[in-house]
Amino acid sequence: MSGLAALKKHRYWAGLVVLSALIATAALVAVNKTSRFELEREALVAANRLTAQMLNEPDALFYALASPSFRTQFAEILDKSGYAHRVLRYELYDSAGQLAFTSGLAGLQLDGELATLLVSPSGEAPKVALFQSQNPGAPSDFASLTLPLDLSGESRGTLVVYLDQSDQATALAHYFGLVIGITLALLGAGIAVPAGFAWMRGPERRKAEAQLRYLEEHDALTGLSNRKTFGESMAAAIERMHRDRTHIAVLCLDIDKFKEINEAADHSGGDQVLRDIGARIQATLREGDLITRLGGDEFAIALVDITNLGDVMAFMTRLVEALRRPFQVAGKDMLVTTSVGIALAPGDGDTAATVLRHAGIALARAKGDGGQRMCFFEHGMDKALQRRRTVEHELRLALGREEFEVVYQPQYDLATERQCGSEALVRWQHPVHGKIAPGHFISVAEDTGLIVPLGEWVLRRACTDAAKWPESFIVAVNLSPAQFRDGDIAETVAQVLNETGLPPERLELEITENLLINDTEEVLGKLNRLRQLGVAIAMDDFGTGYSSLSYLARFPFSKIKIDRQFIRNMTRDPAMRAIVKTIIALGKSLDVTITAEGVETQEQAAMLREFGCPQVQGFLYGYPGAADLEGMAQSGKVTPISAARSSAA
Ligand code: C2E
Ligand code: MG
Ligand code: MG
Repeated sequence: MSGLAALKKHRYWAGLVVLSALIATAALVAVNKTSRFELEREALVAANRLTAQMLNEPDALFYALASPSFRTQFAEILDKSGYAHRVLRYELYDSAGQLAFTSGLAGLQLDGELATLLVSPSGEAPKVALFQSQNPGAPSDFASLTLPLDLSGESRGTLVVYLDQSDQATALAHYFGLVIGITLALLGAGIAVPAGFAWMRGPERRKAEAQLRYLEEHDALTGLSNRKTFGESMAAAIERMHRDRTHIAVLCLDIDKFKEINEAADHSGGDQVLRDIGARIQATLREGDLITRLGGDEFAIALVDITNLGDVMAFMTRLVEALRRPFQVAGKDMLVTTSVGIALAPGDGDTAATVLRHAGIALARAKGDGGQRMCFFEHGMDKALQRRRTVEHELRLALGREEFEVVYQPQYDLATERQCGSEALVRWQHPVHGKIAPGHFISVAEDTGLIVPLGEWVLRRACTDAAKWPESFIVAVNLSPAQFRDGDIAETVAQVLNETGLPPERLELEITENLLINDTEEVLGKLNRLRQLGVAIAMDDFGTGYSSLSYLARFPFSKIKIDRQFIRNMTRDPAMRAIVKTIIALGKSLDVTITAEGVETQEQAAMLREFGCPQVQGFLYGYPGAADLEGMAQSGKVTPISAARSSAA
């Protein structure tokens, strides 16, 4: 620590010491001055008394001035004044300034100059002067009193008296010595007591300071470095990277669906997951690697001394392994998936801020693609992210302007070969880009929460339309997980059914497996309430998500829709065929309707019929479009499949 820094640190104590020194000096000066003043005052009092005494006995004075033989009488006057014992010597001068006589006391040596000064007679008020003497025979302090002796306005002479003041000076010195002693003792105590406390508190304070420093440098929740410290360490690492000609990989990691985890496990459970993830990541790092929590559920990691991509992949393998194990939250095991964006320095940027920003963009892409994946930064991604932001902005405007429409894709009953309902699919009628399919905006709507008002709008539109269809037709509406998270979906559905007059048994709500990954009791509760309303619940895109047969056991679905990727591949892939067959058989044994999605060819239709698939949906039977009310009305009479096929062509 430099001298200046030390002074700055201890400025309080330094200030206190300087202040005390100033006070002590001021006290000494003040005491000195006061005691001189006191001695002077005392001498003046004596001078006045002596003068009064002299003039009280004008005869004695007269004789004394006239002849030295009368000095005895004069001595008596002095005696009566009460000062005689302190008079060291006196000199009486006549009005002409001639020495009439002196007490002649020996032992007092005045130098010539001083004597002349004192002797000069005045005619005015008494004067005093103080002296100190080092002479061993003489008193230490004495005063000269010059007393003009005027009688009836006429000067008769001057008396000079040397008054011993050594007793007074000693008394004053004792008195002020005591005052200074007490003052210094109080001052000392003023410094010593707090200093003592500070000394005793030293370890405590150092501990508090260390704690403060820790808080300044670390994230309070996870104990990892905070963003500021991470940035500083990154800057140093980048300098080393340039010097050693290596690379740094910066990873931004975000927990998928953290909001759901937080809701399922309340916030303290969510915090626990964040702490555990931080600790597990840290355990996979090598010495020198850096990690921070950027905020919320996002972490940043910097892998230093990277020489080839294999190093990054090796880390990713360790990371995946570390995060694969379930997390214990509120006594329950919970699986957590993450998305990672990676940028490499110096290729993707040679400042900490740039690489970190690019890793963030790669992360946004990984999340945008559905999460649970890693994505390397590529130039041009900024543009893709920008596009996504534009979609978000325009989507908000579109909601207000009602730029959406709902189209219907027919669903057919294979046994009766009749249309039995339609699935409502949303389209965005963009003022510039024309009709936009949901694949381009649903995920943005889900990420931003806009899906909630949009989904409600679709539901209301679909129910209003379906209320005009023949009674045997159901309408299927897709619901997003976000609609289960935010707001009371059962309440919304009940309200829409009530408003539109559509009987609940004619509404089918399609949900995907994603809704049930972290299947909280809350989601199941909401699904049950929907069923109690009398609406049907279908499992959409079955086989694409985290397919787990246990979902089918936990909730009584009315329908399972086999995803179109199985239908597309089943004619040439025996494994796919086996899966489709099994799902259909499963449906039969569970008494759940099965719908095959994406049926495009006769060959697929024939195979499904052979497997006993109850329902189909696909371009072979009709494209999504305006609801065909006429076709629906006739569907009881004709074989609509061929009619639909010709209309679809
Ligand atoms: P989905 O619910 O699985 O809807 C079926 C999708 O498959 C529709 O795509 C439909 O046009 C397409 N499709 C139907 N038959 C065939 C076929 O034979 N071959 C092929 N290749 N595709 C076929 P679309 O309309 O683009 O919708 C895509 C997805 O967007 C839907 O998948 C659904 O998950 C979602 N979606 C659509 N509308 C809504 C909505 O209102 N709310 C929500 N949350 N999601 C919606
Ligand atoms: Mg659907
Ligand atoms: Mg589907």
